[in-house]
Order: sequence, then structure tokens, then C-alpha cells
Amino acid sequence: MNGLNGETAFLVKDVLVGKYDGRAVGESRNGHVTVTVRMEWLTRQDEYETIAHELVRRPLDFAIMTHRGADTAMFEHMVDYARGFDPARVQELARLAAYHLPSMKAGCVHQSGVNKAPCPVTGYRWGSAWLVEPLPDGFLERVKAVFADVRFKPGQRYDGPMA
Ligand SMILES: [Zn+2]
Repeated sequence: MNGLNGETAFLVKDVLVGKYDGRAVGESRNGHVTVTVRMEWLTRQDEYETIAHELVRRPLDFAIMTHRGADTAMFEHMVDYARGFDPARVQELARLAAYHLPSMKAGCVHQSGVNKAPCPVTGYRWGSAWLVEPLPDGFLERVKAVFADVRFKPGQRYDGPMA
């Protein structure tokens, strides 16, 4: 199974996580939160440049979407949990969500969001390419662990080949 940019490593679609307090996120009523997670080994290029200007092969990409797009704020306002989820697992999901789209970094480690001057080391210009932030060791296993006790419907989960 291939995505747009690489080989699928892990995919879960529209998994029910539970209910969140709608008023806490500016909505009039509580709502169900569903999550889609896609992880791919990127293979469109032979090598990818990291935010530290190293070249890596087959970096792991990660995207997490809820029913409100990339907004995962409702993870902080859960009032009920679907089967397979609990507060610890949703907190872990919120921590993992901070790594959303690690292959689309506009700046390197020598640049900050405020100072967009060219990199003093390589001259890299802010936003002139997508840099990759390597995910922490064990990231894929952490993601899988969050969903370990979910009962999936047919076609809702896909585990790709190992790296
Ligand atoms: Zn740099």
C-alpha cells in the first residue's frame, strides 16, 4: 500500500476516541472526536535533508487529523472515552500530535521562528525547502501502542512492512 509520498508504515482511519467538552473549544455541545493517523516511510527522494543539515534515507513521516482537521485541542477536554482509550492514552496521543508533519519544517535548528535570517552554518534560506525533523526513537511503536486495544472495523487499520 503506497501513499502519495512513500510507503505506509501505519494507518488508522476515523477511529472513535471518545467525547469532548464542546464548550471548552468554543462549540455549543459536546461532540465525538475521531482521529486519523498516517505514518509513511518517505521514498520519493533518495535522501532528505534534516533540520540539522544531515542527509537521511527513508525518514518516517507522521500526520494526525481529527474531525476538526489538524486541531487536536479537544484531547485536553475529554469527558468520555471510547473502548480502547483512557486518559493516559489520550495524553500520549496529545504528546505525539506535537510532532505532526515532521517532514515539512521550513527552518533549520540554527534558525528561530522570529529570526528568519539565512542559516549561519550553511546559508539555508528559511522556507526554501522542506526539512525533516527526525522523529524520536521508538515513535512508531508509541503510536501503535496507543491503538493497541482498539477494536478496528475492517479496513480501518493498516500496518505496513517493517523498515
Ligand atoms: Zn542551519
